Parts: sequence; C-alpha cells; structure tokens
Amino acid sequence: MERISVFDIFKVGIGPSSSHTMGPWKAALRFIKEYATSSGLENIGEIQVHLYGSLAKTGKGHGTDKALILGLSGEDPKTIEPEKIHQVCGAVQRNKLICIQPGLSLSFDPDSSIIFHNNERLPFHANGMRFALRTKTGETFEEVFYSVGGGFVIRQGEENDINGTHLKYPIDTAKDLILWCKKTGLKISEVVFENEKAWRTGEEITAELALIWSEMLECTYRGCHTEGILPGGLNVKRRASYQNQKLIASGPYKNSHEWLEHIKSADHSFKETLNWVSCFALAVNEENAAFGRVVTAPTNGAAGVIPAVMLYYYCFCDNSGMADLYDFLLVAGELGSIFKKGSTISAAMGGCQAEIGVSSAMAAGALTQLLGGNFEKVLMAAEIAMEHHLGLTCDPVGGLVQIPCIERNAMGAMKAITAAYIALASDPHYAKVSLDDVIRTMWNTARDMSDKYKETSEGGLAANIAVNLTEC
Ligand code: SF4
Repeated sequence: MERISVFDIFKVGIGPSSSHTMGPWKAALRFIKEYATSSGLENIGEIQVHLYGSLAKTGKGHGTDKALILGLSGEDPKTIEPEKIHQVCGAVQRNKLICIQPGLSLSFDPDSSIIFHNNERLPFHANGMRFALRTKTGETFEEVFYSVGGGFVIRQGEENDINGTHLKYPIDTAKDLILWCKKTGLKISEVVFENEKAWRTGEEITAELALIWSEMLECTYRGCHTEGILPGGLNVKRRASYQNQKLIASGPYKNSHEWLEHIKSADHSFKETLNWVSCFALAVNEENAAFGRVVTAPTNGAAGVIPAVMLYYYCFCDNSGMADLYDFLLVAGELGSIFKKGSTISAAMGGCQAEIGVSSAMAAGALTQLLGGNFEKVLMAAEIAMEHHLGLTCDPVGGLVQIPCIERNAMGAMKAITAAYIALASDPHYAKVSLDDVIRTMWNTARDMSDKYKETSEGGLAANIAVNLTEC
C-alpha cells in the first residue's frame, strides 16, 4: 500500500483548487523539467495541453489554464509570490508567447494551445491531461498525467507504482492505527511522529509542522484583512474582513500574533465563538478563491476547515500552545491519508464528501485528541463527521471555487467541532459504525454518484443558478 507522509497531505501552494490548479501546475512543471533534462528545451517548436473530464468541464473556473502556463514557465507553486501569477499569465495572454527558460520563448496562445475536451474522459481518472510537444524538426512527444486530488499527480504508466518507504508502524486503515496504539500505548500523534521519521529527522518534522501552521495562520490573517470582490466574474463579495472588524472588540494590532492575542481575550460566548470559527474558515477560502497562498488540507477547496478548527482550539480552549497544534496536524494528516487510501480525496471522483467531508473528519479527530480523547474517541469523532457528509455533492456555481465552497468550509468546521464533542461524551465501545465502515461507505457512495455531482458543474446549484460571468 502507498505510504503517505503528513506533508503530502498538507502542502503549501496556490488556490483555488488542489486537483484543478495545483495538480496541473505540478504536472506541467514536471513535464517541462524532465524534458529539459532529457532533451533540452532549445529544439521545442510547439507545446499543446489537452484537458479531459472534470478538468475540461470546470478547468476555466478553477484556473487550470493559468496553472498550466505557470508550470510550463517553470514557476513553483510553493514559492511563487501570488502577485506574480497575474503578471506571468497576463503577459502570455497578451503576447502569445511563453517563456520556458530564461531567454527562450515559444509561441503559445492559451486560447488555442490549451484544449478543453468537454465530452471526453481518459480511462484512469476524471482529471486527465495530455501534454503534446512538437520539435522544430517535426518529431512529436506526448505524456499523460492525472491529477488525483489534493495536489497529487500520477503519470500514465505509474498508476500502480507505490511509495514503498518502510514505516515503523505501517497504517492503511483505522483498524491498523488502533492496533498500533494498543500495542505501543502511544497516542495517535506519537505513532505518526515516529512514522514521519522515515522521511525526516525529528527536528525537521517539527520545523515542517511549524511552517505549515505559520502558512495557515498567515493565510487566515490575510483573508481576515482583505476586502473586495473575488475574481472570476461571479461578483462574490469577500466577507471575512467585515466579520473580523465586527468581532474584534479591542485593538490595535500589528500582526497575526497580536491579532490572536486579541481574539483569545475576546468574548467567548457561544455566538461569538461560532462567528469566529466561520470568520476563520471564510477567510482562508476567500484567499483560496483569489489565487492566494494556502495549505492543502487535504485539498484547496476544503483548505479552511482545519485552520478554522485549529484556531478555535488555540483561541477558545485551554491549550499548551504550539506543541498541541503540531499534534493536531499529525493526527489530522494521518486521518486524511487513511481516507485517501480507503476512498478518495478527489471531488472529481467522490463529490464534496471527498473534500469538505474528509477535512471535517480530519479536524474532528484531531480536535478530539487535543481535548483529551483517547484514540478510540478520535476515530469515533472522525467517523461521526464523515457520516454526516456522506453523499455531499460537488456543484460549484460557474465552475468557480466560491459558491457553495467558501461557506461550506465554515459548515465543515462546525460539524467537526460538534463531532468532537459528541465523541468525547460517548462510549466508543457502543459505536455501531467504525471509521473503516464509513470510509468504505463513502467510496461506495462515490461510485454510485452521478458525474453531474463530481466537479463538472453540470448538476446541483451549478445547474440551477444562472450565471453570466463578467470579469472586468
Ligand atoms: S463544492 Fe466542495 S468539492 Fe466542489 S469545488 Fe467546492 S469545496 Fe471543492
């Protein structure tokens, strides 16, 4: 079985979609880099990219075309400054030229060089893309990649390759995790930390966790302090900033850390707490919709659930600070990887249950450990959260990751918190449904679900809300 690190689940990148933006971006970058290594780029005459399935149907709204331009331009989604995205894409659109290495540009018109095959699908996965290259001497070269959710990319021919890294405590299912916790007496976060040592030293793991948390916090802070209309033409107004202004009772503050201190000392009534959790989640997904820097958790569309629940814990619960937050990420990351192995984290395969449902389950389990629950309660909380997302469809209006996506993150965060408290107040020995049961059910539901509800914008809200996308 595939071995997945916590840092495969949590990756720093650019919005709005891990499968439709990050995946194609990484595929384009990999294609051009590998071709450069094998043959050099000087002899390339022309590049075309063909998109299939869900990538073709909602790729425009999800920024797939921009992601491909950036990848072919050699930009890295982890390090690019978000402002540069519009510069690079704007220049390619205006000049019909793409710079594939310093001093080397190719003719490339996004309107004709990126081809959307709306009615075709490649066999392995709903998010397929084919890169076709012609050299100046007329030779052709093609490669097919699949974006399989959460920013993971597979090249055709590598579908059955597995990352066979040897882990101290191999885990494929929730049942495996239970066995290791019972056998070792370790908490889930401790089991996962030991496994992560297969890839990194203990110091490196802690440094990576700190980076992920810092990116999540800064993303939330930016979202809570940015006003305006989201791009794409739906004219969706950003709300987190307005909500933040209404909720912040005292000020001023100069940075995210001072902001958190204000929130911690603010009114902790039920209503205020609910409003803050929504505000955090909306903030992250407004940033995501605006092509901002976010952390996949496990996807971009669902990137707001986990930061919102972590901030709920940090601001409104008794806690021991950073160490708790790192444990949160370890537990949530492991739960995400169990979902990926047993079902899917791709909306194009499983609808929104695979995005918001999985993120909510990850957050519910992690919060439960931090609030004192043992491993059985952690898994029970994750199961409860997913149980009440089963069948949730993906139907983004106008193909943009805005409606229902942004609010849905707030709902996923609330369900995660509720699931954690239900599990904490329950006896897991009386639970009728295990986490593995619900993961299997989720996968069966995904397979039964019509393609109209799998990130194609052909059903649900997307089919019932008339939109006229007019972007200035
Ligand atoms: S509806 Fe859900 S799965 Fe679909 S794009 Fe929006 S957040 Fe992602």
